[in-house]
Amino acid sequence: MRKKLFTVIGLGRFGASVARTLSGLGHDVLVIDKDAERIRNIADEVTHAVEGDATDDHTLRAIGIRNFDVVIVAIGQDIQASILTALNVKDLGVGRVIAKAQNHQHGKVLSKIGVDEVIYPERDMGARVAHRLASANVLDILELAPNYSVVEIAASERMHGKSLRQLDLRVRFGVNVIAVQHEGKLNISPKADDAIVKGDVLTVMGRNEDLQRLEGF
Ligand code: ATP
Repeated sequence: MRKKLFTVIGLGRFGASVARTLSGLGHDVLVIDKDAERIRNIADEVTHAVEGDATDDHTLRAIGIRNFDVVIVAIGQDIQASILTALNVKDLGVGRVIAKAQNHQHGKVLSKIGVDEVIYPERDMGARVAHRLASANVLDILELAPNYSVVEIAASERMHGKSLRQLDLRVRFGVNVIAVQHEGKLNISPKADDAIVKGDVLTVMGRNEDLQRLEGF
């Protein structure tokens, strides 16, 4: 895997977590924040930590922002600063810009100015938690597209002792089992005749309404 160059702008809880995780995965990470203390706190864990105002395009030019593969704009509360920063980063020619939005309107503006991916961390995490709570069997959910998700679902009692062929989930619910976790080991090419036992976890992909019907099975 080629090491990628990332810039994370704004070191709130979200930005700092993205920066630390990327750095832990071995990538070069430059962070920018106008708050000196936040810069000091993270300086030892990332490649470069720069104190500065990201709405000022001189700051962005000085660090050579156009040479970075991905820039993550993680400024939240100050929507104006988030938009101005994203606009500058795009104008300076960065190929992939990801920005965190505080609400729908904020997200709409970010998309209009050409941000490649807008994310809503609180909304998405809230939805994941709600799905887990709404169905006792759902362990996690990841939305792939507006109406498609991947869920991790604990094998229900009705599945115990049956093979995937017998369960026939594709025909019954229109969903695909892409992996089965058994005793902590993930099998990414489950065989049709392998029996599902108590404690197994199925990773299933499909349309949200079909997955919801499966959750009640
Ligand atoms: P989270 O929810 O992830 O904790 P948040 O959405 O509350 O974060 P803020 O705390 O408002 O976001 O901002 C994140 C960081 O962005 C702060 O550390 C702040 O100093 C920084 N920041 C805000 N404006 C600028 C700017 N113009 N230039 C550089 N950094 C900025």
